[in-house]
Amino acid sequence: MKVTFLGAAKTVTGSCFLCETGRTSFLVDMGLFQGNAADKMLNDAPLSFDPTKIDFVLLTHAHIDHSGRIPLLVKKGFKGKIYTHKATMDLCEIMLPDSGYIQETETEWVNRKRIRSGLPLIEPLYTYMDAQKSLGSFSPVSYNEMISPAPGIRVCFKDAGHILGSSIIEIWIKHGDVETKTVFTGDLGKQNTAIIRDPSIIEEADWLVMESTYGDRLHTEVEGRSDKMANIIARTVRRGGNVLIPAFSVGRTQEMIYDINKRIAQSEYFRSIINNTKTFVDSPLAINATAIFMENPQCYDMEAKTFLESGDDPLQFPGLTFTMSPDESKEINNLDKPCIIIAASGMCDAGRIKHHLKHNLWRPESSVVFVGYQAQGSLGRRILDGNKKVKIFGESIDVNANIESIDGFSAHADQNELLNWVSNFKKKPKKIFIVHGDPDAQIEFSKLLESRLNIDTVIPDRGDSYDLTADQSVYYGVTQENKDLNNEFKRLRLLDRLYEADEEISSMVSDVYDLLKTDISDMDVERLLQMSKEIEASIKEFKSAF
Ligand SMILES: [Zn+2]
Repeated sequence: MKVTFLGAAKTVTGSCFLCETGRTSFLVDMGLFQGNAADKMLNDAPLSFDPTKIDFVLLTHAHIDHSGRIPLLVKKGFKGKIYTHKATMDLCEIMLPDSGYIQETETEWVNRKRIRSGLPLIEPLYTYMDAQKSLGSFSPVSYNEMISPAPGIRVCFKDAGHILGSSIIEIWIKHGDVETKTVFTGDLGKQNTAIIRDPSIIEEADWLVMESTYGDRLHTEVEGRSDKMANIIARTVRRGGNVLIPAFSVGRTQEMIYDINKRIAQSEYFRSIINNTKTFVDSPLAINATAIFMENPQCYDMEAKTFLESGDDPLQFPGLTFTMSPDESKEINNLDKPCIIIAASGMCDAGRIKHHLKHNLWRPESSVVFVGYQAQGSLGRRILDGNKKVKIFGESIDVNANIESIDGFSAHADQNELLNWVSNFKKKPKKIFIVHGDPDAQIEFSKLLESRLNIDTVIPDRGDSYDLTADQSVYYGVTQENKDLNNEFKRLRLLDRLYEADEEISSMVSDVYDLLKTDISDMDVERLLQMSKEIEASIKEFKSAF
């Protein structure tokens, strides 16, 4: 089987692998590129394969960086089936239309600017309706069920323990009498993630395509994460403040609800606090996702099942309120009693969390608790980095609230867990293709796999192709189309540099504004003035270069 790495190659988004057996062509994942400008622009690049020639898709899980270009694929003429776990299909039913809606609103915003500049209008990558239509192609599969989507191909989905429905995919390809097994890990969860089971163990493979998001890091605070959260909630509520938890709608929000509920069962004191405090889940997507979690108890781990069987719904507790409409959401800010608010987005850049931050960041009695990764440049990152003022809806807000961060809630296995997972193989893969990671994480993880487990590794570039047969892997190199795309990618890095510089200058302006209010010496002011002239000169020089 020839595998071409079309996404999540030396980056963490846009997961997409083209597999060709000679008779059949299929994709593993069709994710959206997310993050910086260069990555996002890759979504608009022409597909490097003919969608009408793809026979089927195997989808590891519902996260948009794995599923988010499925509506585009169907819009471009793909007619086959998308095989995935039933819970992933359920989650895609809400997440893909939501993504279509976001594409439409973002395009509308860009087009308003283009009209003013007299530029031609652009089309959204896909619409809400395109996403709705693509849902008709989904075909649900259960864990451990063996399917044969085409002659000579057998496929089995195993629990990846990352989010509800997430799967490791095992693929057997038959050529004559010989069968070759390739495994795609998708995203691997960490041990003891709330609600869902731990990642399944795989014992043999000829070839392994493996994620490496946390290939260079360990999770700290996993043990103490619930204690820390309970303490922050108790302290904040006691002093009359609100607790804001920015959380991703799918996975993290449900984990938070589960964790609070579990704590209620364990501690009398915490129960009395929660009984007298309202907890709001304020994100329509999170509300729908929670309903899907409740409809899929077959994916629960033993602990969550025991909760259910004892009559305690693990995703419900007294005072938990789901706020669907914008009016209900705004009402929360008129409450005169402390409350807990779980809202999206997880990085504070969009969604309802923004207006809750506006109403709470200036209040020293309130707390903001980060439970997920905050990307460079996001509002969440600026708050976490200790900025004393942030801009929300064009207004400058003082940051007086108590800012906390709990690291132990990641949905990804850390370096040790990734290594342990590979060490379970009885028949070791001949080679591990390391994907879905930043270059530093990938290089460190690759060295560890080679030195500790003695397994050969490759870190493929986007567009690289390998032929994987029963006994050897042959590098095909990058096709001309993909070479062109890679060049384009490099060019787009230039834009990213400028975006980053723009952000640096904006945050510098607000820092200098604060600095000038202190008793800074005239000499220091003079020195900074001189340096700022140099910045201005290099900007002018850059502009004159084209
Ligand atoms: Zn994921």
